[in-house]
Amino acid sequence: MLEFVIFYIIFCFCFIFPPSAFVSAGLTVTSLCTPILGSEDLYFIRYHIRRTSATLIIHSFLPLGFYFWLFILEDRQALNLLKNPTWLIFFWGSLLLPLVTMFRVFLWKLNDWQSHPLAKSLKKYALNERQWTEVAFEIEAEFRRIDKVSISTNPVSKAVLTNTWIIKISPYSVKVAHQNHVTLSLLKNEEHNVSINSSTGAQFLSIQVEDIQNKEPLFTIRLNALDYADMVDRLQSPINNVRGIIINQDVNSRFYQVFINEVEQNPVYQSSEEMDFCLGCMQRRANTRLVRRCIADTAGCTPCFCRPMWCLSCLAKWFAARQDAEHPETWLSSRCPCPTCRNPFCILDVSLIEQVDSI
Ligand SMILES: [Zn+2]
Ligand SMILES: [Zn+2]
Ligand SMILES: [Zn+2]
Repeated sequence: MLEFVIFYIIFCFCFIFPPSAFVSAGLTVTSLCTPILGSEDLYFIRYHIRRTSATLIIHSFLPLGFYFWLFILEDRQALNLLKNPTWLIFFWGSLLLPLVTMFRVFLWKLNDWQSHPLAKSLKKYALNERQWTEVAFEIEAEFRRIDKVSISTNPVSKAVLTNTWIIKISPYSVKVAHQNHVTLSLLKNEEHNVSINSSTGAQFLSIQVEDIQNKEPLFTIRLNALDYADMVDRLQSPINNVRGIIINQDVNSRFYQVFINEVEQNPVYQSSEEMDFCLGCMQRRANTRLVRRCIADTAGCTPCFCRPMWCLSCLAKWFAARQDAEHPETWLSSRCPCPTCRNPFCILDVSLIEQVDSI
């Protein structure tokens, strides 16, 4: 009997916080309910409205499942157990829990899910007589794009950043905030000596998302410091770091920052042309041009006449990707071929573009 209780508690724990063995065996709510959930990629909001509801209902059956399996495996023990008042109260409680949960989900579902907490939170953004579904379509359209950033720190929750939205997905809820309506700040920093993915230790950051007007905290995103650069890259405004937390980014992310700082010291290139979108990210406008400034004989750079096609952040990534991974100390003084004409350039040859009306 005791073995069964312990086994069932461990099973429930693994079902709610699935380890990789449970995920690959399909023992998660999302795998079990795939036919009714639809596609997350195509119908992000509708998928998560159904997923949170299904998760609540299925998890609410777990206490009752204990009696069910006990009755099947050891029916006499189960009947004896119900003579004990504490277990009897627990039994009625476990019977009531799924009923209350199903009734609650039923109320959410009325009128095409408009009472679901996620739908209610979207209503805040449905101004000028728009419906919450129109906001949902907007988010779904942005989620379908390949440039979204998805960051997960554990198997049950993740954060998604699209062009204009910040979304936090947890088992029972999904929080959504428009990037223009919030400010982000680094809340705290945890250092772990050993993590699952590396033996050298890991740093985790908690980022608080606050309403820009009343400073009310909306939700917190916890992420590995190595994902921090990806997140910053996708945000329209910077993350406040009033506590001056030092972020242990990987060598690439640190290099991007140094590269960008160095290029900002170089003379700018003035142009009156309208720039196309960057070929790397398709998000920002191209804002760099290669103009040879180094002493060519010693450095080996050759002039490039390509029109501006890259943003600085993508050019930094391109540059870093073509360096000797074993020797990061040489990167800043090295060269790299132009992404288009393949003529080598160095960091001194990169200019930011200043838009002017006429030259
Ligand atoms: Zn770019
Ligand atoms: Zn070129
Ligand atoms: Zn050069």
